[in-house]
Amino acid sequence: MRRPQSARPLLLLLGIALLRARAASAAPQIDSQYGPLPVFELHSGFWINLHHRLYQEARQQRSTAQAVGAKPGRSAKPTLQVAPGARPTVTAAEQRAWDDAVSYYAANYADKDLLFSTELVLLKNQLGDFETCDELSGAKKRTCDAGLPGKLTQILEGAAPAYRAQRWPSDDRANRAWIKRVAPLVREQGVGLSHRLADIYQTRWPEEKIRVDVSAVANGAGAYTTLDPLRVTIASTDPRNQGAAALEVLFHEASHGIATPVELAIVRECRQRDKPIPRDLWHALIFYTTGEVIKPLIDTESDASNDATFPSRSGGTNASQDGTRSSEDAAYTPYAKREGLYQRGWENYLQMLTRYWQPYLEGRVTFDDAIAHMVSAL
Ligand SMILES: [Zn+2]
Repeated sequence: MRRPQSARPLLLLLGIALLRARAASAAPQIDSQYGPLPVFELHSGFWINLHHRLYQEARQQRSTAQAVGAKPGRSAKPTLQVAPGARPTVTAAEQRAWDDAVSYYAANYADKDLLFSTELVLLKNQLGDFETCDELSGAKKRTCDAGLPGKLTQILEGAAPAYRAQRWPSDDRANRAWIKRVAPLVREQGVGLSHRLADIYQTRWPEEKIRVDVSAVANGAGAYTTLDPLRVTIASTDPRNQGAAALEVLFHEASHGIATPVELAIVRECRQRDKPIPRDLWHALIFYTTGEVIKPLIDTESDASNDATFPSRSGGTNASQDGTRSSEDAAYTPYAKREGLYQRGWENYLQMLTRYWQPYLEGRVTFDDAIAHMVSAL
């Protein structure tokens, strides 16, 4: 959920052939039960899930190795975790290929950030584009040549059989379940929310649907967004992204791609007043805004229909006959508040947003005045 760098200047870093990527990228989104969604296209892709699993295991292996570094004789050998109901063993060759892949990721990627490393951003995008391919080398099908460096292609194709046999079925199921749960909310609220947020940030919502790669695991934040092209990655198994919060996470992440005018306005006002530019104020602002805009929609939906769409507050807790709400049916709590983000150094930001930004959201002051007031109060 942090700020990505532009990937443009180092497009050639991986030796990726982007034109070939586009040729092979006619991948269908995962359509929900009632067809394509507005605003977003949601994907559950094999390679991008494998990539994030390898990255996660490599980082775990590195942490374990550091932890046991002082205790000779113990190793941090990677093992492919087996999902319930999956084939219990992999062949020795498959296991070796998996271990090699984790080691490769540990050596080459574990120290890099999924969001800030241009190399990892390009790789992630490329693996997303080739989600319908069984291979990445193009050996069987020319359009499936992803143009990755030879060693990396070999590593990923080598790890694929073990992942496909064991972990992928449950990862894909988790992704699809997440998509199925959020789809009705996107269908009902997506267009309205996109217009509202674009108005607030004084910009236009992207004309093309925003690609969202749903992955069993992602980065430490549980979601991240990269620009040029604007793409969102969301972890389907992260507890922070479940229930109605899924809608907020989607729109928070998408806001990373459209909230530039806010960031620029904050910088401008700070320069005019000769003040240091506050780190992360713009990010606190988009957290606050998405939460405030979504909250009444979720509360209204929850009042109208207390069903399985909102598992975090379901369980048969219908509003009682006299019209009072049970504690489980309490109002939606926005992500930043629920996860305690304001308590981690953003206390002042919350006060400023409540005092000076909220009136703008309510249409009582202009965008420029709201930003100016906030920066004055810094
Ligand atoms: Zn964020």
